[in-house]
Amino acid sequence: MITVTLIPVLNDNYAYLLQGDNGEVGVVDPGEAGPVIDYLKSKDLKPDIIFVTHHHGDHIGGIPEMQEWHRCKVAGPSKEMGRIDSMDILLDEFSAETFGDETYDVLETPGHTKGHICIHFPESKLLFVGDTLFVMGCGRLFEGTAEQMWESFDKITALPDDTKIYCGHEYTLSNAEFCLKVEPENEKIKARYDEVKGLRAQHKPTVPTSLREEKDTNVFLRAKNAEQFGEFRLIKDRG
Ligand code: ZN
Ligand code: FE
Repeated sequence: MITVTLIPVLNDNYAYLLQGDNGEVGVVDPGEAGPVIDYLKSKDLKPDIIFVTHHHGDHIGGIPEMQEWHRCKVAGPSKEMGRIDSMDILLDEFSAETFGDETYDVLETPGHTKGHICIHFPESKLLFVGDTLFVMGCGRLFEGTAEQMWESFDKITALPDDTKIYCGHEYTLSNAEFCLKVEPENEKIKARYDEVKGLRAQHKPTVPTSLREEKDTNVFLRAKNAEQFGEFRLIKDRG
């Protein structure tokens, strides 16, 4: 199994440390090097690979400094080649690479950026979604269309419900407030809003989430089955 450790970077980003059973060490989306290197040093670890979900600076900004400290492989979206420097492994939906004795696969999830990918470890049931999905929210459509994002969500929701989801930002409190506005009568959203408020009051992360929890409380995933969400149908129709 792969062990995941969350490393807060920048203002509200999360990078993730992955440790495989075979001792392999990976880092997902190091938007900033300092906190990641400090943490790795404190555990006497060196990275073997950096995984990247998309080309935005708050996800790749730490790579040059990390590489200066300890050169390792970089794996990222093949469709963002040229926008992410010196990738060693180009990932797309046909990829079947291994890390930590596990084969991982890739979902291409355009919407936030055109080449955005999610990295999926089916054995450990982990999904690194970058800025495609957030806890109770989703990424802004910077490059793709709403229709594309919609299809990207379909790929994610097809995974097992107990998949753990690790996203790129801690935006949960404001997302939860939004979800509550859209579905004020939804008991699961109400309960989660309270839970999230409590966690954030103690500066605790709300990540990871699970696909089950998102299907229950993330209005962007719930939109497609809910006729009452005129606003969201509009987004889809515009796609
Ligand atoms: Zn982004
Ligand atoms: Fe981001």
